[in-house]
Amino acid sequence: MRARRHDFDVMIVGGGMVGACLAGLLAADERLAGWRVAVVEASEPRRPRDDAVDLRVSALSRASQRILRSIDAWEPLDPHACPYSRMIVWDAASRPDAPDALRFSAAESGDPDLGHIVENVRVQWALSESRRLKTVTQLRGTLESLEFEADGARVVLADGRRYGCGLVVGADGGHSRTRELCGIGRAGWDYGQTAVVAHLRPEQPHGYAARQRFLPDGPIALLPLRDGRVSLVWSTATGAADRLQGLDPEGFSAEVTTASDRALGRLELASDRAALPLALWHAHEYVRPRLALVGDAAHTIHPLAGQGVNLGFLDAATLAQVLGEAAEAGADPYGLRTLRRYARWRRSENALMLGSTDALNRLFGEKNVAVAAARRVGLSLVAAQPVLRRAFVQRALGLAGDLPLVVTRPGYPS
Ligand SMILES: Cc1cc2nc3c(=O)[nH]c(=O)nc-3n(C[C@H](O)[C@H](O)[C@H](O)COP(=O)(O)OP(=O)(O)OC[C@H]3O[C@@H](n4cnc5c(N)ncnc54)[C@H](O)[C@@H]3O)c2cc1C
Repeated sequence: MRARRHDFDVMIVGGGMVGACLAGLLAADERLAGWRVAVVEASEPRRPRDDAVDLRVSALSRASQRILRSIDAWEPLDPHACPYSRMIVWDAASRPDAPDALRFSAAESGDPDLGHIVENVRVQWALSESRRLKTVTQLRGTLESLEFEADGARVVLADGRRYGCGLVVGADGGHSRTRELCGIGRAGWDYGQTAVVAHLRPEQPHGYAARQRFLPDGPIALLPLRDGRVSLVWSTATGAADRLQGLDPEGFSAEVTTASDRALGRLELASDRAALPLALWHAHEYVRPRLALVGDAAHTIHPLAGQGVNLGFLDAATLAQVLGEAAEAGADPYGLRTLRRYARWRRSENALMLGSTDALNRLFGEKNVAVAAARRVGLSLVAAQPVLRRAFVQRALGLAGDLPLVVTRPGYPS
């Protein structure tokens, strides 16, 4: 059933965290031994610096940790990753130590931690250096156009190189050219919010807790870093973000200290700053004949729940599993029946997370006094309910929902 006449079995467009992870998973699966996998990536991999923590970090769930571990990409990350063992979430009108603040600890569910804060560039580097990716062909270039035929696709790069493959996977991020070229629409909107990110030196130790305070214009998160600083992700109205970007370091530090409710005392700017516009998008279709979308190419989500790349890794693991099982069963692994299984599985899981994250952003952005009061009552109920608390922790760990086997079964797929 495999398309031997093509240059590659699978061509992954975009070698970001999700595309590179998918390449590693396909290369590691013995059921797919002999498959020729290629990644088309526009930029060179960047080597992380040992003396600096990069500005872009992600909170990675336990599920992501297991997926990366399965392709030998977790071990090199581990010494640099900052585990967090507590989560504290509170409303603008409350306090981090009030009864209606949500406080979770890894100890209450018997887990060693609730996740890790890791630099994106380090994840990317660990993936590119993983021995699992050594058999993957890396094509440095930019996707220009796609042509689909009954039994495969032709990928054309901007410099004119052309390759034939059995399956194209679009892993080229939120502005996916793959999705655009295929004319796949998406539902969603720009939030009119921008995330300001920076590293801050806190007056008090972060105590390995991830903190998030919901302000009317968006949440402010302080994520612990291994060097004792915290990573700021402050989502706010775009005009306000522009103003924050323009403040001098003292002015910025003062504003962020106030906005964080002095939860860690005075916060001092200790890095550059960056601003990232926020949007929610969900592709109408994840698959077409000979095509699949994964990661931000299929969905972008508000960072308040720290889920974007975690969902992308689950997409990658699910697609790899579905392809592996089809190959093992002797079915056409690139056939629409196989691809639809992936689409049904991940689209519903992602829709749930996109919807609940958006609802949280709206709920906490609600300035109506009655809604704000009801919100605090709701928070105290969640805070007091062991069942709800457990469900929340399982979600944070990425261990809720319909999970691919690499997350639930140690040693899978061997
Ligand atoms: C402020 C902020 C905080 C976040 N925090 C978290 C968090 O804590 N936890 C979490 O899970 N997620 C978080 N996210 C989301 C996360 O960053 C994204 O979900 C993730 O980066 C998506 O990865 P990806 O590989 O799908 O896409 P991308 O990272 O966008 O990678 C796409 C790749 O495709 C390449 N590419 C694009 N076009 C082409 C082309 N035409 N040809 C060839 N190559 C191409 C690009 O060079 C790039 O390498 C956050 C996002 C933001 C904005």
